[in-house]
Amino acid sequence: MNPKEKRETLVFGGREIEYRLKKSRRARSVRLSVSCEGAVSLTIPWRLSLERGKEFLYDKINWIIEKVDYFEKHKDKRLPKSTRSDYLANKWRALEAARERAKYFNQFYRFSFANISIRDQKTRWGSCSRKGNLSFSWKIILLNDVQRDYIIVHELCHLKEFNHSANFWQLVEKTVPEYKKIRKEIRKL
Ligand SMILES: [Zn+2]
Repeated sequence: MNPKEKRETLVFGGREIEYRLKKSRRARSVRLSVSCEGAVSLTIPWRLSLERGKEFLYDKINWIIEKVDYFEKHKDKRLPKSTRSDYLANKWRALEAARERAKYFNQFYRFSFANISIRDQKTRWGSCSRKGNLSFSWKIILLNDVQRDYIIVHELCHLKEFNHSANFWQLVEKTVPEYKKIRKEIRKL
C-alpha cells in the first residue's frame, strides 16, 4: 500500500466501517467514494488537516452506510463450490471467453478498459476497478452463453457508471434487454 495511505475504521451507531485514508498533493478538495465492492476511500488535500477531512466523512455517514449496504446486498454470493485445481484447469478458457465477449460488446459501448483477468473468486462473478481493470471468476464458463454475456456486460458498464444507479441499468439494458430475468436465474444457481 502507498505509504501515504492508511486503513482507518469509522465507528457509527454500533457499526464499524473500514476505509482507506489518503493524503494527496493533487486533490483540490475532499473526495469520498464507495466502490462497487463496497470499499470506502477518503482522499484529503495535502493542506487540509486529517481532522477536517474526517469531519467530512461524518457529515456523509448516512450516504456511506447506504452505499455499503447496497453493494453488500447485491453481491452475487452464490457461486458454485470448487477447488483450486478446477480454477487452474479452466482459467485460460474463461479468459479467452471473457476477452472475446468483452471485445464484442465493447464494439457497441466503446469504453476504454485496461486489462481483463480471471481470478479464483469465491463470492463474486466479476468486479471492476477504478483503473479500468475487469476481472471475472473462472466460473463464468459454467454459465450458459446468455448468463455469461450478462456478467461481462455488467462489469463493462461499470467502466462508465461505477454504481448500480438507474443510468447503470439503462446501459446494461442496451445490449442485454432481459437482464432482470437473467439476474434472477444466476442468483438461483
Ligand atoms: Zn455491479
